[in-house]
Amino acid sequence: MALSQGASEAKLIPARQVVTAEWVRLKCQYGCPGYGKRLCCPPYTPTPEAFSRVVGGYRRALVYSYRGGKRAKRGDMHRGLAELERAAFLDGWYKAFAAGAGPCRLCKECDTSRLCRHPYEARPSMESCGIDVYATCRNAGIKLDVVTCPEDTPKYIHLLLID
Ligand code: SF4
Repeated sequence: MALSQGASEAKLIPARQVVTAEWVRLKCQYGCPGYGKRLCCPPYTPTPEAFSRVVGGYRRALVYSYRGGKRAKRGDMHRGLAELERAAFLDGWYKAFAAGAGPCRLCKECDTSRLCRHPYEARPSMESCGIDVYATCRNAGIKLDVVTCPEDTPKYIHLLLID
């Protein structure tokens, strides 16, 4: 289903290969202009320590990637993520929970003083929960390099914790 939504690769891995680390959120807090502006970003999302415990409650995970570029439709990717989680849930994988890439783009502005307007679709970004996305991709066999110039095509990585 991830591939049919446009993902370029998808890998099923043991959930223990999803790596969390305390340093990850420093990259959100010091270096991302989106910090604190959306409910799916820190400081509103689970801490790395809390999410590490969450991951510990799962056996398998799906990691998948989209190739980016200027025309990447971030909102569509985010909606596809929620659809995938829902499909897994309806297939009987009742613990299914998804995390995406980057700040939630479902609303133009996010009012952080209120509850989320789209709770069925909004999901935190992987990095906002302290996931080391690079290490997790390497564990999954997905090549992910640092983007170093505007000509580089970024990849957007998504995660589905399954069971
Ligand atoms: S769906 Fe809207 S209100 Fe909810 S986190 Fe995303 S931008 Fe904010």
